[in-house]
Amino acid sequence: MVLLVPAVASAAFGDRPLKMGMHGKDVSVLQTLLTKAGFRTAADGEFGRATRRSAGRWEAARDREVNGRMSRPDLRALRREFPARSEQTGPVGELMLFGAARRPGVSAEVTEAGAEVSAVVADETGAIVRTLSRRAQAPGTVKLTWNGRIGKAPAPEGSYLVRLGDGALRSSAGTEPPGAFEFRHHVFPIVGRHDLGRNGANRFGGGRGHQGQDMFAKCGTPVRAAQGGTVEYAGYHSAAGNYIVIRGSGDGESYVYMHLRDASSLTKGDKVKTGERIAHVGQTGRADGCHLHFELWTRPGWYKGGKAYDPLPKLREWDSYS
Ligand SMILES: [Zn+2]
Repeated sequence: MVLLVPAVASAAFGDRPLKMGMHGKDVSVLQTLLTKAGFRTAADGEFGRATRRSAGRWEAARDREVNGRMSRPDLRALRREFPARSEQTGPVGELMLFGAARRPGVSAEVTEAGAEVSAVVADETGAIVRTLSRRAQAPGTVKLTWNGRIGKAPAPEGSYLVRLGDGALRSSAGTEPPGAFEFRHHVFPIVGRHDLGRNGANRFGGGRGHQGQDMFAKCGTPVRAAQGGTVEYAGYHSAAGNYIVIRGSGDGESYVYMHLRDASSLTKGDKVKTGERIAHVGQTGRADGCHLHFELWTRPGWYKGGKAYDPLPKLREWDSYS
């Protein structure tokens, strides 16, 4: 007699009803879930008497037919008791920045190694702009994060959400709809009280060849990267004082910060995140009072063939939400 052993020993949880005498990964998932539900069961992957007893007690407690067998509806119901802790980064409407240290994402609890978790990024129209997926190395939390890009380009600013896709998410419990977040490419560079300039000379083009915007704040007020990227220059110049130039990772433009209080510890080639604190407002170099002189240069950048342009409209916008 030939005994055919179907390949169900590796069936995913919920693919087959489970009963006495069966074994497999899905049985150990069942045992784990029964334990979580308050019916302690050793997770040995063997559906024996102890597992049947736990299953029966769970059925009785849930007013289901008590037979110690777990039908597919039973398994679904048990799994639904443990919604995946689908955690979106931050609350609804939170500002998420391109190139920042914190990335939007979701996480899911996975009960077995090898389970694939997938998620989608949707824009405000509901269109899916990216899919994310990862295979769990071990049971536990799998986190999926979005780098803010669609293909190679930064996603347009707007409202997005990341939610778990239910495609291959089998051994993890259900999904929850997360909220949307606001996605932006920049943050206002001064962290604290400031003004955006006091007179025409503070403006781009004001005074002799003024190539940026002077914004006043107390010396020592933190300065953060309006957009993260790669440090192009960090040094001292008799007019600029301590200064830093960063090439933005999203748009390739140059972001220039001058009259900084201290010599920077950053050096050419360092990577900086959007919103990362990089300096303090100062008055080094030729500066009349504590202020940040800020410049924006088109690609390919600062004294590399790019052109300085008036940063004030953008600064006003960034200041309005950050
Ligand atoms: Zn200036």
